[in-house]
Amino acid sequence: MYKTQKRKTKKIKVRNVAIGGDSPISIQSMTKTDTRNISATAQQIEKLAEGGCEIIRIAIPDMQSCEAFKEIRNQSDIPLVADIHFDYRLAIKAAEFGADKIRINPGNIGSHQRIKKIVDACRMAQIPIRIGVNAGSLEKDILKKYHHPCAEAMVESALKHIAMIEEMEFEELIISLKSSNVLTTIKAYRLLAEKVDYPFHIGISEAGAGTTGVIKSVAGLAILLWEGIGDTVRVSLTGDPIQEVKVAISLLRSLNLREQGAELISCPTCARCHVDLLKIIEDVEEEISKIKYPIKIAIMGCEVNGPGEAREADIGYAAGKGGGLIFRKGEVIKKIAHQNAADELMHQTKELIKSLNKK
Ligand code: SF4
Repeated sequence: MYKTQKRKTKKIKVRNVAIGGDSPISIQSMTKTDTRNISATAQQIEKLAEGGCEIIRIAIPDMQSCEAFKEIRNQSDIPLVADIHFDYRLAIKAAEFGADKIRINPGNIGSHQRIKKIVDACRMAQIPIRIGVNAGSLEKDILKKYHHPCAEAMVESALKHIAMIEEMEFEELIISLKSSNVLTTIKAYRLLAEKVDYPFHIGISEAGAGTTGVIKSVAGLAILLWEGIGDTVRVSLTGDPIQEVKVAISLLRSLNLREQGAELISCPTCARCHVDLLKIIEDVEEEISKIKYPIKIAIMGCEVNGPGEAREADIGYAAGKGGGLIFRKGEVIKKIAHQNAADELMHQTKELIKSLNKK
């Protein structure tokens, strides 16, 4: 089994989830509701947690959102990160109200004294800070020096903030260097990885929506992860945040970095396909997305590659003429009619998980 060598980093705890060190790469997302709408935000948090998200960030743009955050905090046990820009008082309040991590870009917080107040609040609450450097909001002096928001500029900004907070004797830090340019992001993380051992939160900022956003995110994140860079991941997509979590789970599983949930293998179909494969997949997709157990399910259209893939999966279906074969752990266990494929696949999957859980 291929496996990458993870960069050695400090371990930082965010509530009950460890980031860095020997911990698994954790999956993050962000709520997209109006934080002041407590019930909508709490519902989205619940949905994200059910979908496999492990750390959830919430934007706190004003004091009303901060008050709402306090209530939202009380309704959930999942690690919550308060995302703060500009106003240091919001960060202090969020730490008081039970945030498990504060995300700031020190560059837009203002004076040294204000940043110190945030650091002291986090020290008191015993929570870490993520220094989130974004290519779109670099300090003026750094931009003047480099002329444009390049990787070197982002790293210089991060190092400046890290040094400042270290001087305040605070080292519970997680760093991110985000840009909407994939290659700039990769270069920035590579450069910073040579200089510090803090864990990295990785992501491609403003990646976009749909297929384009997924490809852009995965192109950048996969390269970094394969180089051992990245301790927690957020896929940033315009749209339902649950898609971000699905993509992140799938990405980490593809690189053998996490075993989480069901992996669906299906062929693209062609003229040889004996069955409406897409319909079978649509019928099982929702139930499969709820599975937390690491399991591989193959759904294949004909006898060319079908039996081979179905045999390699934990549960498989290989369509043939007039019916198909159900495989369980490499063995054919029955022949069924195509119209029963979805039900039978789910039944066998649940049975297998039950039997594996008993062991
Ligand atoms: Fe076509 Fe069969 Fe391959 Fe599916 S498994 S793509 S149906 S040849």
